[in-house]
Amino acid sequence: EVRVRFAPSPTGFLHLGGLRTALYNYIFAKKYGGSFILRLEDTDQSRLVPGAAESIEDMLEWAGVPPDESPRRGGPVGPYMQSQRLDLYGQTARQLVESHHAYYCFCSSQRLDLLKKEALRTGQTPRYDNRCRHLQAGQIREKLSRAVPHVIRFRLDAGVESFQDLIFGRSHHEVAQVEGDPVVIKADGFPTYHLANIVDDHYMRISHVLRGSEWLISTSKHLLMYRALGWQPPTFAHLPLLMNKDGTKLSKRQGDIFIQSFQRDGVLPEALLDITTHCGSGFNTNRIGRQMDNLIAEFNPSKITTHSALLDLEKLPEFNRIHLRHRIEDEEQCQLLVADLQGRIQRSCTAEIRDERVLHADYIRRVLHLRKGHISSLKELLSPAYSYLWVRPSVSSQQVAALTTEAQHIASLVLKYVGCGDSRVFARCRLMTLAKQARDTKYGDVMKLLRLALSGLQQGPSVAEMMVSLGPAEIRHRLQKLSQ
Ligand code: GLU
Repeated sequence: EVRVRFAPSPTGFLHLGGLRTALYNYIFAKKYGGSFILRLEDTDQSRLVPGAAESIEDMLEWAGVPPDESPRRGGPVGPYMQSQRLDLYGQTARQLVESHHAYYCFCSSQRLDLLKKEALRTGQTPRYDNRCRHLQAGQIREKLSRAVPHVIRFRLDAGVESFQDLIFGRSHHEVAQVEGDPVVIKADGFPTYHLANIVDDHYMRISHVLRGSEWLISTSKHLLMYRALGWQPPTFAHLPLLMNKDGTKLSKRQGDIFIQSFQRDGVLPEALLDITTHCGSGFNTNRIGRQMDNLIAEFNPSKITTHSALLDLEKLPEFNRIHLRHRIEDEEQCQLLVADLQGRIQRSCTAEIRDERVLHADYIRRVLHLRKGHISSLKELLSPAYSYLWVRPSVSSQQVAALTTEAQHIASLVLKYVGCGDSRVFARCRLMTLAKQARDTKYGDVMKLLRLALSGLQQGPSVAEMMVSLGPAEIRHRLQKLSQ
């Protein structure tokens, strides 16, 4: 039975790198009829970010990568938050102590600091010197009875077997030679990542661990723990990292790779998923515009390479444009977009300047259909270039007074066409004819005037486009002012 998991720490919000790991897990589960589990690794209590745990699950749902088992959904092997499974880790650690694979360590933080300073002074990598390995049973009992603060450390004995990583192939790291014995239970009684991670993978019956390649070197350590506990380890597949286009580490500084910011900016989840998989390997094709079903069908784990995936965020608008078009063309999806846009309009244009007509679903739907293939996000429709769609321009009486009789003549001509119900008046050729009829006025000047009257803008979308979007009644309303 295939069971995979995404195991983020709620020490921050979900970003693109995390979403990508979740996505590969999700696709792997769906491809092989398995389950996708969300487990929150919240054992570092000092670094928890309020709201992050909730938000991670929300963002997975939003992105279309919903877990089958999770803190919110529950499931047969819960709880799915490590802070609620402390007994299990304590019990496992005691088991390790009893079998002499782990030991109590009473070294004070002052001693550990000194060790570290000394190593740095002599140019060595700091590591614990494993001193408490050699404590006698009596000494341990005595310290425990006096409640001396302590941790539990795992004995890293040399000689780890190599393992077969599905992506990186045969791998092994001589951890014992480079590291001191790692802490598995901290002084506060909480486990460290390494212990909690393997205990959960075991008890949650995880069959495949698909995670970022930054964890590749920890795997040998994990395998030593599996062996000490007599457990069968899962199969490992380390995913190459997601990097910026120029090969640098994915930046989280501007907050621009957080899933919430993409959501706020009107990026569609399918565009986000498509661009994240497009730049990485593991799929039979790389065409743009793939939906989840295509991703699952085209997924081929043997095609995942060890090269980093280079993310080109400049391509995101293009991906979004394609997926937005798909959504607009799907009646059900389109309804959701209409509601979304309604909310955005209400939030960004105050009631005084807004014309209630623009909140009608039919009007918004029409705008979406007219603009599909041109716009790459809903947010774009609220930019100044499109404000004419939602807000009537304020053309001052001075501006009107300053209009030449030519201008008034043109306005009245347009009005005549609009008035007689000729919807074709919007077409460019019709506007040309109008310009000709407007005696000596140049075509460009006619357009300038109309653009100003319809949108209040000097530059912007084409006049024909504006007319089609606004419709006859609204054109009439906006032009009437000019012809008075
Ligand atoms: N909690 C770890 C992280 O935040 C999980 C690593 C793993 O998947 O084993 O990345």
